[in-house]
Amino acid sequence: MNRFRRMAQTVNKSFIPDLPKGGPLAEYRKRANFDWKDLKLIFEEEQTLKTKYRVWKLLEEDPLFTRSNTNLPTNESKRIAAMQMNHMANLNIVPDEVYNESITQRHKYLCAVNEALHAYSPSLSVKIALGVGLFNNALIAMGTERHQKYYKAAWNREIVTCLAITEVSHGSNTKRIRTTANYDPKTKEYIIHTPDFEAAKAWVGNLGKTATIALTFANLYTPDGESHGLHGFIVPIRDPKTLIAYPGVLVGDIGEKIGLNGIDNGFVMFNNYRIPHENLLNRTGDINEEGVYESVFSEPGKVLGAALESFSAGRIGIMQESVNTLAKAAVIAVRYSAVRKQFGPERDGEDIPIIEYQLHQWRIFPYLAAACVLRVSTFSLFESYMSAIERSQKDSNGFELLTQLVSELHALISSSKPHITWTARDAIQEAREACGGHGYLKASRLGDLRNDHDPSCTYEGDNNVLGQQASNWLVRQWENVESPVGTVDFLNRKDQMMKRTFNCVSKRWSFDHFEFALECYEWLLCHLIQKTTKLIGEEKSRGRNTFEARNNAQVYAARDLIRAYPEYYALRTFKERCSKPDVSKEIGVTLHTTYLIYAYWSLEKHMTSFYQGGFATGSAFADGVRKSLLEYCSQFKNVSVTVADALAPPDFALDSVIGKADGLLYENLQNEFMTNEGALERPRWWKDAVVKQQIKSKL
Ligand SMILES: Cc1cc2nc3c(=O)[nH]c(=O)nc-3n(C[C@H](O)[C@H](O)[C@H](O)COP(=O)(O)OP(=O)(O)OC[C@H]3O[C@@H](n4cnc5c(N)ncnc54)[C@H](O)[C@@H]3O)c2cc1C
Repeated sequence: MNRFRRMAQTVNKSFIPDLPKGGPLAEYRKRANFDWKDLKLIFEEEQTLKTKYRVWKLLEEDPLFTRSNTNLPTNESKRIAAMQMNHMANLNIVPDEVYNESITQRHKYLCAVNEALHAYSPSLSVKIALGVGLFNNALIAMGTERHQKYYKAAWNREIVTCLAITEVSHGSNTKRIRTTANYDPKTKEYIIHTPDFEAAKAWVGNLGKTATIALTFANLYTPDGESHGLHGFIVPIRDPKTLIAYPGVLVGDIGEKIGLNGIDNGFVMFNNYRIPHENLLNRTGDINEEGVYESVFSEPGKVLGAALESFSAGRIGIMQESVNTLAKAAVIAVRYSAVRKQFGPERDGEDIPIIEYQLHQWRIFPYLAAACVLRVSTFSLFESYMSAIERSQKDSNGFELLTQLVSELHALISSSKPHITWTARDAIQEAREACGGHGYLKASRLGDLRNDHDPSCTYEGDNNVLGQQASNWLVRQWENVESPVGTVDFLNRKDQMMKRTFNCVSKRWSFDHFEFALECYEWLLCHLIQKTTKLIGEEKSRGRNTFEARNNAQVYAARDLIRAYPEYYALRTFKERCSKPDVSKEIGVTLHTTYLIYAYWSLEKHMTSFYQGGFATGSAFADGVRKSLLEYCSQFKNVSVTVADALAPPDFALDSVIGKADGLLYENLQNEFMTNEGALERPRWWKDAVVKQQIKSKL
């Protein structure tokens, strides 16, 4: 028995419910030579998993969280989500002790709760995140002592909150927000005003029907008419006892959406609406007794940047949720394909499971591998982010220091959020098709996954816009490397990197080595940063300004860069995880294969750049990448069901009739077909479906 095995045995894994014994999935399950629970504990910390299982058990046992198998009317979805949100406070899911933990431990706990809730119902988790987590994060970042009461009230559900940033005519470009907040020194109040419908706050989650407080972003004006840029204000919207809007507030629901219909996304227009002086979130700037603005930063742009920084936590939350969504899609597709049989080598012989087909493996295994790699890299990013926040809090001037510390993390988050949300989006579609017609059944849950995940590519920063912030940072690193987190350390050796070719890399490493893909990526990133920088330089030398120059360097340059950067980070952090002492030899082999599948699947998408940039000539590189991908997919087949088990939430949270852990695909489908509401009854409208007898004319 080696050291690693002993370590695995020290963890009592009984809190993880066992899988059903036997069944059609047993054939593939027994091919793995390691325990799926051990792998689960590599992907997630023991405490995180315990929290998640506790939340799922609480929800499963509570009738209020019973699932509906039909599409509810949107109003009903909203009512149920609101009731569930209120009820959550009674379940004591976040006990008082959590508040006494260190900030990192507290966040870990809250993130685990959020992930568990999201796996059950994205509407509910987003509703709570907006109503409690994100609101309170923003309050801590932007508010001061005088706003503490709102923090507590949000935790206790005495108020329902929302974050009102987006306006009807401006979302991504927050600098063009037109809601105003004029200070009136006579009454010591701010007058919040919406000039016209285009400046109405829109799409704000919780605002449509339930929010009582909106943390509203508006342009602050002093009595001398000077603008001091965007600031956050605590704006009362409705009476918490009656939910009737206050005079001067025109608020409503924007209507049915493609998904997430448990959330009441709303709009609001303010008509010279007065709020007290203390409602300005004044951590970075305030108006003094004389009506003069005093700022901690001299430039309003910096005030804006610092204020919005607090939303990075929301983006990390989206990444965690999206990794779970990606995992769910891959789990459903893998379990289904291990049971579903079509065709076979013999004309009249038995059909074989579709997981045996190379094409099918190539379609779904990379998503399963991506779920593993991105889960690990998202955790690593979360830890770096939290340590930056902890460091900044120890400093007396924490807010400013935080802004400096997270600039690299901000670039990483701004590229990883697009990368992960897009990967999950694509995984869901591939899984849907990989499950054929049954994948299209509502009870497969793939449609709900798609509809509820979709806006993650847009909110908390549209992916394409957010990615540009990352590429701007990367381009800046070309001349002057400032990489405290170490994500682009290799740029310090950029001249050497640019000389790399496939021939030199392949002399050092074979395709099955961790370093091979990493060295390819380092070349690729140098090439893409140099290409983007050069394009911007050329545009400028033609007389274009920075805005135009950057615009014209997006396609085939900056945008490729912001995909390659998080892929490289994910591979590096996953490789580090693989070498930790708790990884047994057997699990290590599977993790290595997982790494290689993700690496070659991702590298293949950059093939044009490798040839265009001169890294490779001839067919050896492309052939090697593709051959390796297919080979590792083939090897992965025998462990894929076990890897899926390690990633899967319990059936209650996965909630897919075709992806259940028991693998009883046809029994479960039969039950679904036979028992769905009214399945075997004649419809009430049967007369409308019957062809009416023609009345013969007597003429
Ligand atoms: C379900 C949901 C919930 C939401 N919840 C909230 C909330 O609680 N509070 C809130 O304030 N907002 C919320 N929003 C709004 C969300 O934050 C915005 O939709 C988002 O910021 C994008 O802005 P936009 O819709 O104005 O898109 P736009 O900025 O108009 O973008 C439209 C398209 O143009 C492209 N584009 C824009 N600029 C550029 C550029 N410079 N270069 C290239 N392409 C560009 C974008 O990539 C995008 O594809 C929510 C949205 C949704 C869908």
